[in-house]
Amino acid sequence: MTLFAARGLVKRFGGVSAVDGVDIDVADGEIHALIGPNGAGKSTLVNLISGLLRPDAGTLTLDGADLTRMRADRRVRAGLSRCFQVTSIFRDATVRDNLLLAVQAHAGGHFRCFGVRDAEPALREAAFGLARRVGLEADFDRVAGALPHGAQRKLDVALALAARPRLLLLDEPMAGMGPDESARMIELIAALRRDAAILLIEHDMDAVFQLADRVSVLVYGRVLAAGTPAAIKADPRVQSVYLGT
Ligand code: ADP
Ligand code: MG
Repeated sequence: MTLFAARGLVKRFGGVSAVDGVDIDVADGEIHALIGPNGAGKSTLVNLISGLLRPDAGTLTLDGADLTRMRADRRVRAGLSRCFQVTSIFRDATVRDNLLLAVQAHAGGHFRCFGVRDAEPALREAAFGLARRVGLEADFDRVAGALPHGAQRKLDVALALAARPRLLLLDEPMAGMGPDESARMIELIAALRRDAAILLIEHDMDAVFQLADRVSVLVYGRVLAAGTPAAIKADPRVQSVYLGT
């Protein structure tokens, strides 16, 4: 079943059509990867989907709800959550406090906000559950800014999960990681399939072809090809523009 659909999305910056009539679908339980060379419009597309940018044309729906004119914070409540490449982490706070703040923010007013020191047990349990979900339970009391890069990325994922998304947007989650950290992030993303459908923007082709159920290739703001990883790998148009063969 289609969970998320973008139809005819357009975004222009001056004379440049960064996104130029894009259709993309994400099914329930699917990992859909978006690849494409630098400047193809991937980040612009993610910003249109999350609501940081307004499209010049086109529509966005999630589970039947029209997101097109919805504010970014409402989209989160509608079930769409994104990772921000670590920028959403409070570096001076512990993993625990980062997660408590996120859990409180999404608790929907059922909990009075006394600050993280006096958080209710249910919130603390939820925060620890998120740490465990991403493999950070041993780092629960550590200051976030002191964690290795890969662990900070995991925390960023956990913060996005705090909103209990139906669709999770991951913009280059492996960026800046060595092979070991990348391998662990790939395992984590594979496991997250149980929590949410995923739209994955990623440069690491090995990761994309390991994880994705479907791949869409964006070039000059347009979807050049979409299909299974095997079909995309075998597509001569994709090979010539993107894989450099
Ligand atoms: P990608 O993430 O695939 O590398 P981007 O979405 O960042 O691509 O960029 C797509 C195109 O839009 C590029 O030509 C880029 O220069 C342009 N662009 C992106 N953001 C802006 C902006 N805020 N203002 C002007 N041009 C932009
Ligand atoms: Mg980008």
